[in-house]
Amino acid sequence: MSCQKGSTVRTRPQKYKNRSVFKNSLHDTSQKTKSINSTHISHVCQRCKEIIEWKIRYKKYKPLTQPKKCVKCEQKTVKRAYHIMCDPCGQKLGVCSKCDKSKEVIEAPPSEKEQFQLDEEMKEMLKSLPERKRRTFLRYMNKSKEEEKTDQKDDILKKLNELKVNEEEEDDDEEDDDDDFSE
Ligand SMILES: [Zn+2]
Ligand SMILES: [Zn+2]
Repeated sequence: MSCQKGSTVRTRPQKYKNRSVFKNSLHDTSQKTKSINSTHISHVCQRCKEIIEWKIRYKKYKPLTQPKKCVKCEQKTVKRAYHIMCDPCGQKLGVCSKCDKSKEVIEAPPSEKEQFQLDEEMKEMLKSLPERKRRTFLRYMNKSKEEEKTDQKDDILKKLNELKVNEEEEDDDEEDDDDDFSE
């Protein structure tokens, strides 16, 4: 196994002991942390999902640098860190792809459904905007769709948030939102 792409994995000593609040992107805005934070956990049971979430939250999560061998089909098809079998095998057998035990696997929404969920989420946010801004946003969204940006989802949500923030400023609404866990 050669390690030519050594720069992708970086181990950094922990400088501060965790106190109570964790927000792993607070002092680390690196692309790696961002991409780990956006990891879509699926094909596992609730317990394994929580374990993986815990790892992500406390920066213990180590993404796979190359596919791992599946314990079922024995192909190098496991692309998700900590999973012992590949997605198709897990689906076929109807078990958790990490512990191979639980049959109560959390729903694994396909990207299409994810998109749909986002749309629902956006619709909700759009409702809170006045007509004028709503149109601004829809124009932006269509434009962004045409351009087929890869980071479209982030862009759109960012734009929507921008509009929302502006709206709040105009209303001089000083609602204090201190939800630390929103991401
Ligand atoms: Zn397999
Ligand atoms: Zn499991």
